[in-house]
Amino acid sequence: MSALILDGKAVAAKIKMQIRQEVEKLKTEGITPGLAVILVGEDPASQIYVRNKERNCQELGFNSQTYRLPATISQDELLMLIQELNEDPKIHGILVQLPLPAHISTEKIISLIKPEKDVDGFHPVNLGNLLRGEIGMLPCTPAGIMELIKESGVEVAGKECVIVGRSNIVGKPLFHLLLQAHGTVTVCHSRTQNLAEATRRADILVVATGQAGLVNGEMVKPGAVVIDVGMNRLESGLVGDVDFDSVLPVAGAITPVPGGVGPMTIALLMQNTLKAALMQRG
Ligand code: NDP
Repeated sequence: MSALILDGKAVAAKIKMQIRQEVEKLKTEGITPGLAVILVGEDPASQIYVRNKERNCQELGFNSQTYRLPATISQDELLMLIQELNEDPKIHGILVQLPLPAHISTEKIISLIKPEKDVDGFHPVNLGNLLRGEIGMLPCTPAGIMELIKESGVEVAGKECVIVGRSNIVGKPLFHLLLQAHGTVTVCHSRTQNLAEATRRADILVVATGQAGLVNGEMVKPGAVVIDVGMNRLESGLVGDVDFDSVLPVAGAITPVPGGVGPMTIALLMQNTLKAALMQRG
C-alpha cells in the first residue's frame, strides 16, 4: 500500500486562514502585524525565500518591510538597522535571511534582535526557552514539522523518533520538540556509523541533511512517518533528502518536496509574527 502524502500546502493554507481571521480582529484595534525582512547580498535561493515571505505577508494583510542590502554592508551598519527596528512599534517581527556574508557574525546579529521580535526563534533566549520547555518563539521549520507529524495521525509519545541532521535551525530544536512530546529521540549526523540501522528503527523519521536522496526505501521501517526537510536544487528541479519513489511504497506517511515542509515553514513564520504582535500589544 502506498503512503499517505502529507500535503504541507493544504495544512499551511488552514493555518493561514486562521491567521487571516486573527489579523482582521487585530486590525479593529488599530494593530497590523509588521514583519521586517533583511536580505544581505544576492544569494538566488535567499531571494526566492524573501519574495515568498513578502507574498505571504501581502496575502495575510501584514505590514511587510524588506531591506535589500549590499553584500558589502558592514556589521555595524547592520547592527544599527536592527536596533532601529527593535524600537519601531510598527514592526513586531524581525527576520534576517541566512546565510550572511562571512565578514558578519550571525551570532552577534541574531543576539541583538529583541527576543520578542525574533520570529525565526534563533535568539539564545528563545532557544533556552525551548530547551526548558517554556513559552517563547519556536523555530519555524521544526514547529512546522511537528504540525505535519500531527497531520499524519501518529502520536509522538512513546515512539522511536530519528532525526538525520543536527543543525541549529532544524535538527537540534526539533530534538527538543519531539522529546517534549515524549518521543524517544535519536539524532544522527555525518559521523554516525551505521545510518541505515538507526533510520530503520524509526517510527518517525525526519531527514534534514541537504544530501539529495540520502534516505531510500531500504532504510525505512514499514509504516513509518517520513518527513523530508531537504531542499536540493538540482538541474532536474527541486528534490528532497529522501528518495521519494522508493520510500513511498514502504512508509505509512511521507512529505513531498516541494509542497511538504517548505510551505509549513512560511506558515509558522506568519504565525510567529502574529504571536509577536499579540505579545507586544500586551
Ligand atoms: P546543515 O548543512 O546546517 O546541516 C546538515 C546536517 O546534516 C549536519 O548535521 C550534517 O552532519 C548532516 N549530514 C550531512 N551529510 C550527512 C550524511 N551523509 N549522513 C548523515 N548526516 C549528514 O543543513 P540545514 O539543517 O540548514 O538544512 C538541511 C536541509 O534542509 C537543506 O537541504 C536545507 O535546504 C533544508 N531546509 C529546508 C527548510 C524548509 O523550510 N523546507 C528549512 C531549513 C532547511 P554534521 O553535523 O556532522 O556535519
